[in-house]
Amino acid sequence: MISRTSHLPLVALAGRHGERTAVVDAQGSFTYNDLLDASSRVAAALLSGRENLDEERVAFLVTPGFAWVAVQWGIWRAGGVVVPLPLNSPRSELEYFIDDSKASTLVYDAPAETALAPIAADRGIRALSCDQVLAGEPAELPDIASERRAMILYTSGTTSRPKGVVATHANITAQIMSLVEAWEWSADDRIVLFLPLHHVHGIINVVSCALWSGATCEMMPRFDANTVWDRIASGGVTLFMAVPTIYVKLIAAWDAASPERRAALSKACAKLRLMVSGSAALPVSTLERWKEISGHTLLERYGMTEIGMALSNPLRGERVPGSVGKPLPRVEVQLVGENGELVAPGTPGEIEVRGPSVFAEYWGKPDATRDAFREGWFRTGDTAIIENGVYRILGRTNIDILKTGGHKVSALEIEEALREHPAVAECAVVGIPDPEWGERVAAAVVLKGDDALDLQSLRAWARELLAPHKLPSRLLVLDALPRNAMGKTVKPAIAALLQAADGGEPGV
Ligand code: AMP
Repeated sequence: MISRTSHLPLVALAGRHGERTAVVDAQGSFTYNDLLDASSRVAAALLSGRENLDEERVAFLVTPGFAWVAVQWGIWRAGGVVVPLPLNSPRSELEYFIDDSKASTLVYDAPAETALAPIAADRGIRALSCDQVLAGEPAELPDIASERRAMILYTSGTTSRPKGVVATHANITAQIMSLVEAWEWSADDRIVLFLPLHHVHGIINVVSCALWSGATCEMMPRFDANTVWDRIASGGVTLFMAVPTIYVKLIAAWDAASPERRAALSKACAKLRLMVSGSAALPVSTLERWKEISGHTLLERYGMTEIGMALSNPLRGERVPGSVGKPLPRVEVQLVGENGELVAPGTPGEIEVRGPSVFAEYWGKPDATRDAFREGWFRTGDTAIIENGVYRILGRTNIDILKTGGHKVSALEIEEALREHPAVAECAVVGIPDPEWGERVAAAVVLKGDDALDLQSLRAWARELLAPHKLPSRLLVLDALPRNAMGKTVKPAIAALLQAADGGEPGV
């Protein structure tokens, strides 16, 4: 048994939830007491006689499930910093995360051993299997102060190598508490996790909020549309959180199902109390289609690795399609112009965020950390506008806000319009450099079925919806858009494809 209570709020709260089910995975059901016991063993194994890991980084690659959480909590309880590694990464990427974080220990389960054991051996880093750490002999565990570093998550850099975003225990607690309050999490909730566990969405919004609340988190190793639908259909799930591409895949699976199954799936959705979308812009067409299928108006929210969640449509009250609502509890948000001045409502500005959930620093990058803040506000690099009192995201300032012929246009707005075209299944708009226009509006599209589309007919069609300077002057038809593990389109890769193809017609 554990020799003393923990001062980590998440762990301390687990003591109150005792015999409730915390995690369900392919191996079975595990209570909060199981989690406390297993994580204390992991902590003891990691400490191996020491008193405190003193913020040493422990990188781990474990299939999502009970063991993943036990390892995460064990590292925390030993005083270490968790560095969750992404599944299915090439060796060079894993090496980068391990080297950059200067991890002192690697923990992996059997499927990850071939990937990590050689990396540990090459570097002389301590390597421990999941089974080994779970079998640790319980020992005295240290008190962990809330301002200590707790987690490093790597953000997908667009222009540079990924940066390690450092959150303290206090940051993580603030991120969790804000969502638990806004979305009214309770011990009666049950959520299914199928998102990757190297990203804030899965780690904080799903797993940590559930475990904070005494709820149950069912963990699937990966996303599969029909498996997820089956799980919704079998009942008991109350909350659902996903990225837009997952909703698109669930819609496709629903469309492919028999009429009887469709009816059963739609009926089962009525039992859920909340379905959330985030981490990328939710196309209004997806929101509408999902509403037809499930009866739910998806709650769209906006967040980022550096800040947790910042803006959210309301749990109760009107959810505005295409908007991300208002600031979450204890999160301050403002929109500023190029010189840091506050912009008037109705004028686009860069989102700045302040509050206890905002991260501490980029790991080992004091210059990048300094540049990311302005007078205590974190500069998100996203542009938004307030319309009728709610925020609408216009995109990444440097990527999605195109400057064409002296106009500033939002790629997200153009994408929203192009998706209305009957032949367009998916699309991504980027700016490509142009001597005359500054940037040209360029679109990559994936078409429905055997449909065909050329630039002239797309432009002719889009004239009804978009001002002339927003019309694409380059078009590339792709089989699939390049996306990352979170389902987000990788805009620099799309811009490179468009530039390479340069399929536009001169003079347009
Ligand atoms: P990440 O740190 O990987 O979670 O990525 C955060 C970025 O995702 C933000 O800076 C936004 O550009 C984007 N993002 C997150 N939520 C939304 C949303 N609801 N709408 C549009 N973009 C979003």
